[in-house]
Amino acid sequence: MKIICIGRNYTEHIEELENEKPEEPVVFLKPDTAILLKRQPFFIPDFSEDVHHEVEVLVKINRIGKYIDKKFAHKYYDEIGLGIDFTARDLQAKLKAKGLPWEKAKSFDGAAVVGQWISKNEFENINDITFSLKKNNTIVQKGNTSHMLWKIDELIEYISKYFTLKIGDIIFTGTPAGVGKVQANDKLVGFIEERQLFSITVK
Ligand code: ZN
Repeated sequence: MKIICIGRNYTEHIEELENEKPEEPVVFLKPDTAILLKRQPFFIPDFSEDVHHEVEVLVKINRIGKYIDKKFAHKYYDEIGLGIDFTARDLQAKLKAKGLPWEKAKSFDGAAVVGQWISKNEFENINDITFSLKKNNTIVQKGNTSHMLWKIDELIEYISKYFTLKIGDIIFTGTPAGVGKVQANDKLVGFIEERQLFSITVK
């Protein structure tokens, strides 16, 4: 399986990093080795002094598809989840400045937290889902999928022009504002609406 991530999909997050608003979705990949194993802590890698949390809504693909029209995109997923796109911001800044790919900053081992899944049928409207991240019991990020620049079905249409989507692939749909540095002993807990979908400790 593969993980397809979307960058710069929420206006306020684009502004906090002083990035330009993209004309098309920003896309990058994480390999399956980036997934943080269940019940394991997240270890801050020794090549970064500034690892940020980015909480994101996830979509799990349930059938194979290419050139999927957004009208039919809803047939390609049944489950919605929540995760963290851990980012070595210092390393990413260096790579960005040189115009180099971001993988070393975003695709290292453990950089993808994947929480529990929820059937999409439990939501009245997947384009109006509230989600949040608590760090040490304080809400640090809060978002709603209605604020995405590109909605889930539009992302599937866009991504599948470039990459065949396969069963089990996961889409990280971008982070809202409030990204920030993690430190050893931080506890990160993610919620969709009131439901807790992951809880991890930073080491
Ligand atoms: Zn992200």
